[in-house]
Amino acid sequence: MAVGAPAATGRMAQGAAWAAPERGSEPYAAARQRAALACASLGLDAAGTELICRPERFSEVTIPVRTDAGGLVVCAGYRSAHSRALGPAKGGIRFHPGVTADEVRALALWMTVKCALLGLPFGGGKGGVACDVRRFSPRELEGLSRGYVRALLAELGPEQDVPAPDVYTDARVMAWMCDEYERCTGHAAPGAVTGKPVLLGGSLGRDEATGRGCVVAALAALRQLGLPPERCRVAVQGFGNAGGVAARGLHAAGLRLVAVSDSRGAIHAPGGLDPERLLRHKRASGSVAGYPAARAIPPEALPGLDVEVLVPAALEGSIPAAAAAGVRAACVVEAANGPVTPEADDILARRGVLVVPDVLANAGGVTVSYFEWAQDRAGWFWPEAEVRLRLEQRMQEACARVQAAAAARGCTLRHAAYVLGLERVVAALRLRGRLPEATRPPA
Ligand code: NAD
Repeated sequence: MAVGAPAATGRMAQGAAWAAPERGSEPYAAARQRAALACASLGLDAAGTELICRPERFSEVTIPVRTDAGGLVVCAGYRSAHSRALGPAKGGIRFHPGVTADEVRALALWMTVKCALLGLPFGGGKGGVACDVRRFSPRELEGLSRGYVRALLAELGPEQDVPAPDVYTDARVMAWMCDEYERCTGHAAPGAVTGKPVLLGGSLGRDEATGRGCVVAALAALRQLGLPPERCRVAVQGFGNAGGVAARGLHAAGLRLVAVSDSRGAIHAPGGLDPERLLRHKRASGSVAGYPAARAIPPEALPGLDVEVLVPAALEGSIPAAAAAGVRAACVVEAANGPVTPEADDILARRGVLVVPDVLANAGGVTVSYFEWAQDRAGWFWPEAEVRLRLEQRMQEACARVQAAAAARGCTLRHAAYVLGLERVVAALRLRGRLPEATRPPA
């Protein structure tokens, strides 16, 4: 994702080591649970389900980073190539102190479902390094980025596993990673990573892709609900890259943006917010907090506001069960990965709130990453209008398929999306002879 890696705010402590703090394995358990339900609908037995849920390959590496002061910091790095049944593994790399092995496993499984659902020729992958990059100088961040590639060199590459930006990694980090890969292998390989600067083979339109895709998904949900956009209000939790672009796109589509939040505060303006002015305020002050013509609210109040559309666009687990019980929106569009916990999901389903799942709602990002990879391999670059058009077509088509499957099965959009995605993975594994033919018919 195109989050700007934060500017270095301080030097790293010498001799420091950031081992991944064990936050537990909730996201992976949740991801497995949802995938297992889909496997049951596809008629898979326990062994087949295990094959689908487990990462094909998981690596943990140690990355030494020399500090500007001549010392050493040692970071734990992870990469999960969850599936390569449909093509090379594809997924972002996250630099965050809370990264754990299980979080990476969960995010990679979600990527497998997402890529398959969108019909991309990729499996799912994800990577992470447990570190606080806010304490890194630019040179130290470069050392970490290059060190990650060297540590996992044998597993990465355009035909094997293709990283992209995620939390606290950006186009600059991708440029270093691509350069390190090319230096180590001795040949040009722009398709080794996506989310690069355009000059180095990045795609026009990649920065906005997740938010734009999210707008398509939200408008499809409103059509399903029979709600005209111009009569709808929207609240966005997490006014960053995905949330900011989604807010602007939904405003342009006629919805009234009434509340936004970021890590430093939340604001509410029932009469409507101007997303462009809000963006200028955030760029100048670093936060949406303090925006004139809006009142400050506690961030935890945002999910319960009186709106038709709620867009969680911050981090995993931001809509827990307690928040779900108070949601008044008609639909929740998951721009973030895993914002609605499984318990919250059940509550929202019981209360009749339509949830557009992350594997569909935020799939615009990986879709344009695929366009970037394809452009790099062809050496032929598309105008931005073409990228936008193809993105919109893919998202519209995926939304229609998921809605139709959910209606046919009488299930949630999430379950339908998992079934449609994993159905392709299962079919690919069978064609490859890695999974026996079905012994019982799909449900
Ligand atoms: P970002 O860093 O640009 O934005 C995240 C925003 O969330 C920031 O404004 C941050 O201040 C805010 N935030 C953090 N903690 C918060 C909290 N407790 N309450 C409210 N706001 C909070 O990141 P992004 O690229 O927009 O990614 C956001 C989510 O979207 C992540 O879950 C990411 O995995 C997912 N996603 C992004 C992309 C992409 O291409 N950008 C693609 C797929 C999924």
